[in-house]
Amino acid sequence: MDTMKALIFHSPGRIAVEEVPRPHAGPGEIVIKTVAASICASDLRVYRGEKYAKPGVIPGHEFAGTVVEKGAGVEDIALGDRVTLCPVWACDRCEFCIKGKRNRCVHRLTLGYDENGGMAEYVLVSAGLVDQGHVIKLPDDVPFELASLTEPFSCTLHSMEVCQVRPGGSIFVIGAGPMGIMHLLLAQAMGLTITILSDFVDARLEHAKALGATAVVNPKRQDVTEVVMQATGGKGADAAILSVGNPDAITQCLKATRKQGFVNLFGGFPPNSATNLDPNLIHYNELFVTGTQNAPTDYYLRMVHILRTLPKAERVITHRFPLSQADKAYESRLALEGLKILVIP
Ligand SMILES: [Zn+2]
Ligand SMILES: [Zn+2]
Repeated sequence: MDTMKALIFHSPGRIAVEEVPRPHAGPGEIVIKTVAASICASDLRVYRGEKYAKPGVIPGHEFAGTVVEKGAGVEDIALGDRVTLCPVWACDRCEFCIKGKRNRCVHRLTLGYDENGGMAEYVLVSAGLVDQGHVIKLPDDVPFELASLTEPFSCTLHSMEVCQVRPGGSIFVIGAGPMGIMHLLLAQAMGLTITILSDFVDARLEHAKALGATAVVNPKRQDVTEVVMQATGGKGADAAILSVGNPDAITQCLKATRKQGFVNLFGGFPPNSATNLDPNLIHYNELFVTGTQNAPTDYYLRMVHILRTLPKAERVITHRFPLSQADKAYESRLALEGLKILVIP
């Protein structure tokens, strides 16, 4: 039988590794043989029922692999090409697409949520995605496992650029999980000199320190604002990034940011979240409060090259599970074990 192993999302709390029909490339399409796929915090939000995904879909929007089939009419992609994807299939007609912001496309479909993604031996890539140039070739010296982090690193670069951080500047990140650490590594690469991370889990803070964070803070024991002010000479950070879905932490970000600085709500929140905040923190400090989600395509095109210049990037990957144990990989990630967890077909 022409089948493959894949993780299937049935409904919140219900995922299973199953044998399903193996896809083949029709006109304009390609098939990628997955080499590494990474679990995202948003995959867990789908699992917990906090974010929509189509029942029966194969999760996974962070992956890399080799092109093994291509349909008639596919140009610029060869069999054997090592690739990753921008997983957003955009309409290219709406006002956001026209402005180059395909991540905000009002008709967007995303691999791993609406279309089958990378937690499988093979991934069928639609003609639309191929046409949009969202299949991105990897430089020879970027290994597949690292390349599977192109998407989260692109989201992180987008977050940093929206916050207009500059060399010599400072950043405060709430959450020292994978996304917090990616902010740290990019901040270092971009020449920021002050990097402060906050988390409730001491092991994560130790890891952040080992990777060169200039200060860490555990809100269970320390006053967050005090630590950030001390680390920034009393000014506050140029940008505060909230990479956990806790709306009550927004106030911590507002208090830790310098006047005219940026606060970015980077992580998604549970539906219908609410919080109380003092609007004067925004008004009198002239803060810019924004959100970012995913990234326009050009961030991906740059990121596959930036990855080779991030010597510590591979240290974000702490666990690997075979595809047959993808459900165990979810459990491990839900238990906050380590940082990025890869699923290897
Ligand atoms: Zn992701
Ligand atoms: Zn669009």
